[in-house]
Amino acid sequence: MNIIEENIIQLQKNIPANVKLIAVSKFKPASVVKEAYLAGQYDFGENKAQEMTEKYQSLPKDIQWHFIGHLQTNKVKYIIPYVTMIHSVDSMKLLGEINSLSEKNKRIVDCLIQFHIATEESKFGFSFDEVETMLESSEFQLWKNIRICGVMGMATFSDNQNLIRSEFKTLKKYFLTLKNHYFTDQSSFKEISMGMTDDYLIAIDEGATMIRIGSAIFGSRTPLKNA
Ligand SMILES: *Cc1c(COP(=O)(O)O)cnc(C)c1O
Repeated sequence: MNIIEENIIQLQKNIPANVKLIAVSKFKPASVVKEAYLAGQYDFGENKAQEMTEKYQSLPKDIQWHFIGHLQTNKVKYIIPYVTMIHSVDSMKLLGEINSLSEKNKRIVDCLIQFHIATEESKFGFSFDEVETMLESSEFQLWKNIRICGVMGMATFSDNQNLIRSEFKTLKKYFLTLKNHYFTDQSSFKEISMGMTDDYLIAIDEGATMIRIGSAIFGSRTPLKNA
């Protein structure tokens, strides 16, 4: 058994059956993704449109590709034909662009709303008010080629477990409020994407349905190229 397969098996022991493991393969070459695939891992997360598209092209077509990074509107076109879910919708402009390209591609693309839950300035994401404004806008009502499946967030990069836990609790609270006000009759609104290598156990504890794990599967990473 290779190390990647061992890591996946080890992780799965800590992950309840109702939580989906997304293997974050950013910066790792396609050959390494293939090893994880052969170990039975079918969901992968990437944060660069071009890198994900190159891997999509060279790898088996039953892989599910999740986009998890900041997505520029001019890069949406590369991933729309094949992407499984965009976790990182962080502006109304981006969601509008995803909708129009999905329409062109005759697809309905699954999206998560990324909330800014961390104390750090640099992380992308909506505030709760911004999301309400978007969901109540007349434009949003016209967007038929996107399906909002839930929420996503990243906790502060910190050793403070209480801080991380409280941020995940906030995300769960946002999820429930949106579910009750806007998505009550939509069974597809059900995902909470939170938790990474260092905080996934807390995230599961706080209700994550998807966790995004890179280094615990693939080891530490260095960029493949300057992207
Ligand atoms: C890189 C990344 C991850 C995975 O991080 P690890 O700490 O390596 O598990 C998860 N989510 C997002 C949004 C990322 O960019």
